[in-house]
Amino acid sequence: MTTTDTGSSPAVFAEPTGTPLSLLLLGQAADPRSERGVECPGDLPAPSDPDLVARALAAKQALGDRVFILGHHYQRDEVVQFADVTGDSFKLARDAANRPDAEYIVFCGVHFMAESADILTADGQQVLLPDLAAGCSMADMATAEQVEQAWDVLEELGIAERVVPVSYMNSSADIKAFTGKHGGTICTSSNAERALTWAFEQGEQVLFLPDQHLGRNTAVRQLGLSLDDCVLYNPFKPMGGLTADQLRNAKMILWRGHCSVHGRFTKECVDEVRERIPGVNVLVHPECRYEVVESADYVGSTEYIIKTLDAAEPGSKWAVGTELNLVRRVANAHSDKEIVFLDKSVCYCSTMNRIDLPHLVWTLESLVAGKPVNRITVAPDTAALAQAALEQMLALP
Ligand code: SF4
Repeated sequence: MTTTDTGSSPAVFAEPTGTPLSLLLLGQAADPRSERGVECPGDLPAPSDPDLVARALAAKQALGDRVFILGHHYQRDEVVQFADVTGDSFKLARDAANRPDAEYIVFCGVHFMAESADILTADGQQVLLPDLAAGCSMADMATAEQVEQAWDVLEELGIAERVVPVSYMNSSADIKAFTGKHGGTICTSSNAERALTWAFEQGEQVLFLPDQHLGRNTAVRQLGLSLDDCVLYNPFKPMGGLTADQLRNAKMILWRGHCSVHGRFTKECVDEVRERIPGVNVLVHPECRYEVVESADYVGSTEYIIKTLDAAEPGSKWAVGTELNLVRRVANAHSDKEIVFLDKSVCYCSTMNRIDLPHLVWTLESLVAGKPVNRITVAPDTAALAQAALEQMLALP
């Protein structure tokens, strides 16, 4: 239940139900609404092959400096062990750009990340995604067509020129290009406050894409706006399900998208863990719902979460609300601290988990054979506009 759909004043924020999810059946043809593929047609080695680790090592060694392997924090351990660097999506894209000598960038992450790497790397470098079905349900919640239609609505109302788009890094290249075309900026979960501050210096309203939670959490908790300053634009309803006055008066027009992993954490998870582990510190990512973030002790990006846990006192207790592969890896690295997952049920990012050792081996061995697979390319005109929005982010004060 929410009142943000109707624009009335919510006393307490509540997550709306029924946001359409792009849950695709893997291997079932194509989905034109998805920014990714739905299958990986390669001749993959069997997951049971006992030589997979040795094969990955041999292929990596054979390729030497020609290949640079990026591993997102949410990737499986079996994949991360072969990464030359690990990080969040933006750090990895920059790491790739800083390795112009590498002919091939193997991106162990999801599709939009590989697109960003292709935009930021030199023309001669090839970016490969080991499984084309590794997409992001949040990125799929804002398609170029939907966002263009929303912009048409703002233009018809005569307010588009005072609206600045701010798009989260977790969006398709098309959405980044839209943002660049309309003078906006990209942001990450680390710099969202600076991005919004900049945007409000350029215009009077912000269209925040595609993660409503990061937009709301940043606007309300860091910029001091109220929940009433935010409206939720539902692309499946005429005019986003809002009235002309609601669109005109809102400071933040939040796109109705969310992360299907971080959106699972609830206030009840926080209450339950506090009862179960007295003295626990609750640490969550800003992609979590507003009520979860409000009830946590610490909130920050993936990098912030890692640094906070690295620096925590031995013996301290932590419940962490982010992707499970990362939480487990950090917990294993800090056996002197009690680090648990915030939710009681298992919660991996299913599309991140598409990249496994068989896919990595297949990709590396294909390169050794001189037959690159699953190359991700962004059309030059889209890349140029997206790059403008990314450069605006780099230039944020
Ligand atoms: S964790 Fe969430 S935002 Fe990240 S790739 Fe998975 S669905 Fe997308």
